Amino acid sequence: MSGTALRIDGNEAAARLRARVAQAAAKFAALTGRKPGLAVILVGDDPASHVYVRSKLQRAAEVGIVSNVMRFPSGVSEAEILGQIAAWNAADDVDGILVQLPLPDHVNTLRVMAAIDPDKDVDGLHALNAGKVSQNATALVPCTPLGCLMLIKQVTPDLTGMNAVVLGSSNIVGKPMAALLLAERATVTVAHIHTRDTPFLCRGADILVTAVGKPGLVRPDWVKPRAIVIDVGINRVQDPASGKFRIVGDVDPSAAQVAGALTPVPGGVGPMTIACLLLNTLQAAGSTARLAPATLGLADDPINQAA
Ligand code: NAD
Repeated sequence: MSGTALRIDGNEAAARLRARVAQAAAKFAALTGRKPGLAVILVGDDPASHVYVRSKLQRAAEVGIVSNVMRFPSGVSEAEILGQIAAWNAADDVDGILVQLPLPDHVNTLRVMAAIDPDKDVDGLHALNAGKVSQNATALVPCTPLGCLMLIKQVTPDLTGMNAVVLGSSNIVGKPMAALLLAERATVTVAHIHTRDTPFLCRGADILVTAVGKPGLVRPDWVKPRAIVIDVGINRVQDPASGKFRIVGDVDPSAAQVAGALTPVPGGVGPMTIACLLLNTLQAAGSTARLAPATLGLADDPINQAA
């Protein structure tokens, strides 16, 4: 069976989620006398990182979160970064700490993540939060996979017994995505650069999440008819005719003829990632101030927070 896939509108879902977060931020401010605070470390001159941080700060301001960014040159020492994190761990008005990745090669990313107070780890990358996610315990959940799961559950609320394939096994996207899908009782396969016959695995997927960074990787003949396809990839490609650059995902657009539902790039996972960062900041602020999520109008379990 073929047709045109339902377009899963990440902009719309993210706007709904941000509205919930804005209400929660207003309640938090009324109850505590201060706005929730997000602190960001940005290292070096990577243009994409600067764009992402700018978007995060802008969205944070829109929902009533105060943010503070510390910019370091690419030659910054690991000790300086760790010193800044320690200061923010101790600061009462900092609820969430985010270190924009990637970091320069001379800085150990895992050591930096491990230095963040797990209760302020709004990117969900501390080993304690990663471990809690894999044990189905309440945690700060990595923003991109959390956003992906919300979009999937918008289409299919119950994933029990479904076959899910995740392309990519990074600590930021692929691994936590697999853990979240497993927690939703899906049967999960993770494929990566060394996987044999990835197209064969994909053809069995009711849910296919691709987080690789290769434009057009997922061809229509990789997609099971009616599958839900979530495209996390962000790839900058040059149009041969116009010479202009544009952003595309990992999925060949003609896969929409086979899939049941598909996230566009841009306008799919990207806006949900930022909305989930804001949600995590409110979850973190609530727990610092010992306010139950329900007091702020939030769900106990962030996965079921989708508006
Ligand atoms: P990464 O480079 O850390 O990981 C890429 C993964 O893809 C690795 O596990 C690698 O083994 C795997 N891989 C490479 N070639 C493959 C192939 N042919 N088949 C299957 N797997 C293959 O990247 P990442 O940080 O996980 O990001 C992945 C993509 O998602 C990038 O395009 C990134 O820009 C994008 N991204 C988007 C968002 C968002 O908000 N939309 C957030 C984070 C990352």
